[in-house]
Amino acid sequence: MAVNFKEKYGLFIGGEWRDASDGKTFDVTNPANGEHLAYCAEATEKDVDDAVKAAWAAFPAWKEVQPQDRAAILNKIADRIDENAELLAAVETLDNGKPIRETTFIDVPWASEHFRYFAGAILTQQGSATVLNTPNITGNALSIVLREPIGVVGQIVPWNFPFLMAAWKLAPVLAAGDCSVIKSSSTTPLSLIVFLELIQDLIPAGVINMITGKGSKAGQYILDHPGFRKLAFTGSTEVGLSIARAAAEKLIPATLELGGKSANIYFDDCNFDQAIDGLQVGILFNQGQVCCAGSRVFVQEGIYDKFVDAAIKAFEKVKQGDTMDMNTQIGSQVNEAQVKKIASYIEIAKQEGATIACGGERATEGDLAKGCYFKPTLITNVTNDMRVAQEEIFGPVAVVIKFKTEDEVIKMANDNDYGLGGAVWTRDIYKAIRVARAVETGRMWVNTYNQIPAGAPFGGYKKSGIGRETDLSIMDAYTQQKNIFVNLSEETTGFYPQD
Ligand code: NAP
Ligand code: MG
Repeated sequence: MAVNFKEKYGLFIGGEWRDASDGKTFDVTNPANGEHLAYCAEATEKDVDDAVKAAWAAFPAWKEVQPQDRAAILNKIADRIDENAELLAAVETLDNGKPIRETTFIDVPWASEHFRYFAGAILTQQGSATVLNTPNITGNALSIVLREPIGVVGQIVPWNFPFLMAAWKLAPVLAAGDCSVIKSSSTTPLSLIVFLELIQDLIPAGVINMITGKGSKAGQYILDHPGFRKLAFTGSTEVGLSIARAAAEKLIPATLELGGKSANIYFDDCNFDQAIDGLQVGILFNQGQVCCAGSRVFVQEGIYDKFVDAAIKAFEKVKQGDTMDMNTQIGSQVNEAQVKKIASYIEIAKQEGATIACGGERATEGDLAKGCYFKPTLITNVTNDMRVAQEEIFGPVAVVIKFKTEDEVIKMANDNDYGLGGAVWTRDIYKAIRVARAVETGRMWVNTYNQIPAGAPFGGYKKSGIGRETDLSIMDAYTQQKNIFVNLSEETTGFYPQD
């Protein structure tokens, strides 16, 4: 589908589109061919302040909207996404460089599923009432617990899944009755803009406000603003630390979904065809720009040689090409900076004595030369202490480490700062559960990879973050408990006799 982008896009504040207060814009391009797509507003401190004010102005009425009505809005948003799925997929592919088959079958339908899930979630939310009758209180009491919205939240999303990560953030906000000021990445702002254009008639003005601009400016203005009651972030561990510090200074909560270097563990007894498919889904999906990517691959010695041979053949067969072609399996990295970062890790791998078994360089055949394409890469002869095994590369690069025993692989899997994803591949259910329990990570797949539907909690251990998304538990992070404590008796405490 061809997309006719506007020449310039504004900020969405208080239900209206407007330029940045100083009129500044930044350029948005397609990384797959370098073509200019549009200009977007570079938000100022004043714009962020206006967005926070608009959100607070909308909050009193929005928090009173009944759960049934909020659920109806969430379902209508999901319908609107489905009706415009082709457009949203094309916008995301053009802006991000990911292949159209992924935006068509993953990013867009998963986003609409998210809104539908939280439409249901809000209807299941109930408070509680408990009668308290202990000798230590006067008479009987009724403790009523309500969940109330938290207020205005600041949300910052990354460039790797610009639309889906925005859906992960916005669906619970709407369900909980909060208002949001959300900032997309300046690398990929367009899908959130097009989405808001499509749904703006469905939500009251000021409930969702969108800011575009660079992290170091617009993002920092959000962190510095005193008007938020909560921050929510997905991105690098480095910036995540700044978010946590900003939240601590304001004494507000922050949920953080950060980086990873997830262990993808293959035992000798795994289903081999499924294993190689899972390796590719784990590290080639989204060009490896996935926080929970299966980037640290552990293979047991009995299948190691066969596994590496099959993996090289599979990686070399992957179709890299025009991102708008449904047959393309791997697209362009998001920008030059990411290609340079990946290439620098290839050099580090060589210096560390590892072997580049396939790929290891930019793809430049034909039209690929115009974009930020990197060849699917397998690095072997790796040990777990090497930098390429410890640090997040965020590209289509898997390192392969040989292991002998279950104990040894668990120890290596845990010898890493991160703990976001991971998988174990075996036909032995006892071993699968043992290993899944022993690995310090928020999500362990068994005989599959990178499946993240709404309905199962997703989030990190260790340096991979704080909090969980994609299931009911996130509703706790977007609400707060109100306890109403009712005296049921006519007695006095007896502490201050009146006669
Ligand atoms: P990043 O800097 O953490 O970007 C994530 C978001 O934070 C973007 O919206 C970014 O805005 C914003 N941001 C940046 N600096 C900020 C600041 N000082 N205050 C507030 N917001 C700020 O990630 P990146 O630099 O694009 O990528 C670096 C590495 O992060 C990647 O190589 C990868 O390892 C990791 N990463 C992880 C994920 C994940 O899902 N876990 C996602 C993306 C990146 P701008 O983009 O407009 O600057
Ligand atoms: Mg772009």
